[in-house]
Amino acid sequence: MIDNEINYDSEPVANAGDNSSNPTTSAYPDWRKDDNTLTNAGLPDEEQEWFCDARPQPARKSWQPIEDFLNWARANSLWILAFGTGCGAIELRPLVTSRYDISRLGMQPRPTPRQANVFMIGGYVSIKTLKRIVRSYEQMQGPKFVVAVCSCAINGGMYWDSYNTVKRIDEYIPVDVYVTGCMPRPEAVLAGFTKLKELIKAGKAEGQNLYAEKFDWYKENQKKVIKDWNMPDYNW
Ligand code: SF4
Repeated sequence: MIDNEINYDSEPVANAGDNSSNPTTSAYPDWRKDDNTLTNAGLPDEEQEWFCDARPQPARKSWQPIEDFLNWARANSLWILAFGTGCGAIELRPLVTSRYDISRLGMQPRPTPRQANVFMIGGYVSIKTLKRIVRSYEQMQGPKFVVAVCSCAINGGMYWDSYNTVKRIDEYIPVDVYVTGCMPRPEAVLAGFTKLKELIKAGKAEGQNLYAEKFDWYKENQKKVIKDWNMPDYNW
């Protein structure tokens, strides 16, 4: 597991799939209105009114003792979005079956983002998959957390110079815990979830709030590589 070392003051990243000659130019420059709401410009006219144009906001904190109790409850009820992005996702199977049986630790895989609060990115991330990752992450209920599993998701791994995979998933959605390896053993993934629990209990798993605070930076990065943006600018 490593610390997050992202520079949010940097220009939008130039990355895989980026064929633009100007690395600071978004493929969709008109996604913000003057009043700072979202244009949802990628949607056809008939779908414009189906989606909200508001930005995500950082979650408000409760009185600290209440917040501590909520964090304890959150840490012991992790519902994992079972979305395998690459070969590393195979490690979810031994975690949920009899050998490690994560149900006894308050964790459970779920089939849909609407029911999940933990997104496990399990391997390399292609440009096509990134679009689904963004949409799934934004659709998840909050408070929500991300665990990036595998070197490929964290630093590009063996796909570092690939034309169709991104190098760092944390330049597109916030990551709370990183589990390195190719592929990490189930024990390492379990250690990652244990670390996530510690962070949640300590009130330090703040990726969701980071996403809301640095929304423009993340969105510019996403739009730089996702060329066929036919979804809302924020998927409520
Ligand atoms: S790090 Fe290894 S196991 Fe994980 S996605 Fe990459 S190639 Fe597959």
